[in-house]
Amino acid sequence: MKVEILPALEDNYMYLIVDDETKEAAIVDPVDPDSVISAVEQSNVNLTKVFTTHHHWDHAGGNKALCKKMKNLEVYGGDDRIDALNHKVEHGFTFMLGKLSVRCLATPCHTTGHICYYVSGNGEDPAVFSGDTLFAGGCGRFFEGTAEQMYQALVEVLGKLPDNTKVYCGHEYTGQNLKFGIHVEPENKAIQKKIEWVQEQRKMKKPTVPSTIEDEKKTNPFMRVHELAVMEHAKQSDPIQTMAALRKEKDNFKG
Ligand SMILES: [Zn+2]
Repeated sequence: MKVEILPALEDNYMYLIVDDETKEAAIVDPVDPDSVISAVEQSNVNLTKVFTTHHHWDHAGGNKALCKKMKNLEVYGGDDRIDALNHKVEHGFTFMLGKLSVRCLATPCHTTGHICYYVSGNGEDPAVFSGDTLFAGGCGRFFEGTAEQMYQALVEVLGKLPDNTKVYCGHEYTGQNLKFGIHVEPENKAIQKKIEWVQEQRKMKKPTVPSTIEDEKKTNPFMRVHELAVMEHAKQSDPIQTMAALRKEKDNFKG
């Protein structure tokens, strides 16, 4: 599996996923269709599928234009508000991209129809395309859901994926997220180290994706709501209450 990172707009990422064996490809959240088309032409792959994580315009806003320029695209997503949707999916739905297997993971909260796509096969490290549910070091705002739902998404669904799963998220927010993370856990060595690495990457204008599920469990406060230090910071004794308190604090955090 090859994943090409395509930056778009201010801080969004689109991802071109290619099955090396068959050259079949999918694009995640193609908000900038022209950039997608040139990447497809350059890498000489057969784009057949669009994976939409959620209906927000900076993720789904390019679907219609891309479908006009490239015929017969299968557009996947879990929400009727997604432009050009023709393959509506639910939690657990699986299909193939060439020889790669794709599993849909419903993670409602940021939006009610949010889907993450888990891609595996060929004995390589699997990958999850997590949209605006899981970011490196953070999570999306709870626009259409509750702390309980985000707990379910981050801890029970994404947190149960193999540790070596690569995490490709929807935005380059890692720097700001880790600033909040170190505010929550000033003693967390993994966060301290990652902040230095992120600064180096960004100086060179390089992306800070992919992360891994293992890394997120060590550095992302929203995946660490069981940890005593995190609960104490949030002045809570329960992981879901901690999730709610952290999100509220992060919404107003200036760093
Ligand atoms: Zn969004």
